[in-house]
Amino acid sequence: MLLPGHELLERYDIDLDLFREDVRAKLLEKAAPYEDCIRVAQKLTWLAYSMDKAPEPPPELRAYLEDLFGFIEVGTTTCLICRAPLDFTQFSLARRGKAELETAHSAPRAHNPENVGFAHRACNIAQGNKTLDQFYDWIAEILERARPQSSNSTR
Ligand SMILES: [Zn+2]
Repeated sequence: MLLPGHELLERYDIDLDLFREDVRAKLLEKAAPYEDCIRVAQKLTWLAYSMDKAPEPPPELRAYLEDLFGFIEVGTTTCLICRAPLDFTQFSLARRGKAELETAHSAPRAHNPENVGFAHRACNIAQGNKTLDQFYDWIAEILERARPQSSNSTR
């Protein structure tokens, strides 16, 4: 959440009224406090080093991250959305404006370590603005309509 307009102006000399309307709306919707952004960066770093084929972190970084989030075990980071294991080498496939792996949120607007992770680009696009629970319900409803016989046979 962004600081109130008067506080931004007094403390940081930032006048929100000078921004274009769409930019201001995006800032108000998505801005997160500095501390939350740092905690998210720490968590994402820990998750990246826990991916399959991840490089070994420098010892002091490993100790720092493990102190925050627990043991770094290569091969344990999965897509936040589809839960398939993620491969560190997929980062190298990133192109301008298009990455194979993206940061993702369980709930779209909460920017904190408990709510963020990495996801396949395709999964992230499919989730859209839904929470993960809403997304899974939506997928389940689609599968129920698309494959009614297979869901019936499991009952
Ligand atoms: Zn995925």
